[in-house]
Amino acid sequence: MASSIPKTMAGVLIEKTGGTEVLQYKTDLPVPEPKEGEVLVKNEFIGINYIDTYFRTGLYPAPHFPYILGREGSGTIVSAGSGNTYNLSTGDRVAWMAQGAYAEYTAVPALYAHKIPDAISSHDAAAALLQGLTALTLIREAHHVNKGDWVLVHAAAGGVGLWLCQLLKAVGARTIGTASTDEKVELAKKNGAEVMINYSHEDVAARVKEVTGGAGAIAVFDGVGKSTFDLSLDCVARKGSLVSFGNASGAVPPVTIARLSAKNTKLLRPTLFNYMVTREEFETYTGELFEFMTRDKMDVRVHEVYPLKEVARAHQDLEGRKTTGKLLLKP
Ligand code: NDP
Repeated sequence: MASSIPKTMAGVLIEKTGGTEVLQYKTDLPVPEPKEGEVLVKNEFIGINYIDTYFRTGLYPAPHFPYILGREGSGTIVSAGSGNTYNLSTGDRVAWMAQGAYAEYTAVPALYAHKIPDAISSHDAAAALLQGLTALTLIREAHHVNKGDWVLVHAAAGGVGLWLCQLLKAVGARTIGTASTDEKVELAKKNGAEVMINYSHEDVAARVKEVTGGAGAIAVFDGVGKSTFDLSLDCVARKGSLVSFGNASGAVPPVTIARLSAKNTKLLRPTLFNYMVTREEFETYTGELFEFMTRDKMDVRVHEVYPLKEVARAHQDLEGRKTTGKLLLKP
């Protein structure tokens, strides 16, 4: 390891699951050594994703304890392990997805690190990568959205939601979004949603039927989960897709499959990482996302950049529905 790389670093780990009190900020964690096929990245920005809260609460089981949370970041490669690192080398500025992000340094499988084009800042790359790729794969793979399609997006002013609004607009689809406040409604409209419904005082199912001439939305992208599943099933058009991709309000309980026959609904429960198994998949989609960002001048909305040691406040804000767009951490 190069001499400029310290032996210890700051980071946030959990030793048990629970509320934000289980997040422990430490300053004496060992800097990881990159193994074969890995690169060591000095993180400049760390992306917060809802999935981080699932690992913290135990909704998703952590692979081991202590466990460093976080799944994406951006920064500079400071060393590389042996083996294939996909032509990435020391000094490259990269955005990456892997485990162990809430730290000053992360050893990242090179397969999931991508050089950041000069036109994109490290701040924007960290803010865009995981949520942007989620939105892109949802509209390409989970349900291939076509020009003119009416699509329903829940939590349209959230991190993934704003990417969905912008990407759907870019491909010519027509977005109906939901959000809890008028401020969020305005933001999602600015980002491409054609019709916004404030579900705090409007009837979502009735509005969707009205807007779509009674047909419903050909695709419903639902990252809210438990509290919206029945509503989503109600809003989907005959032969449409209900893409349930998250649990912000809790996990969706088991579903009776016969319910799908009422409208020949396709029900999917995708995760990004199963669309990103090969280098080719990761490179193609990341390249496309970066191209959308530069060519279509996408708005990279960042709610706040929190100091790493204030991660508990960030989790509280995200789970408290206080945020719009992306939350970043600064190590
Ligand atoms: P968001 O920024 O969208 O935050 C969640 C939003 O959900 C809130 O702002 C809120 O918006 C809405 N919401 C509705 N009910 C609740 C509730 N009970 N508690 C909290 N929030 C609620 O988060 P992300 O963009 O990070 O993630 C969105 C979803 O996408 C998550 O479920 C996440 O797990 C999922 N996801 C899935 C991936 C996959 O591979 N399948 C990858 C990435 C994300 P409002 O106030 O407008 O209701």
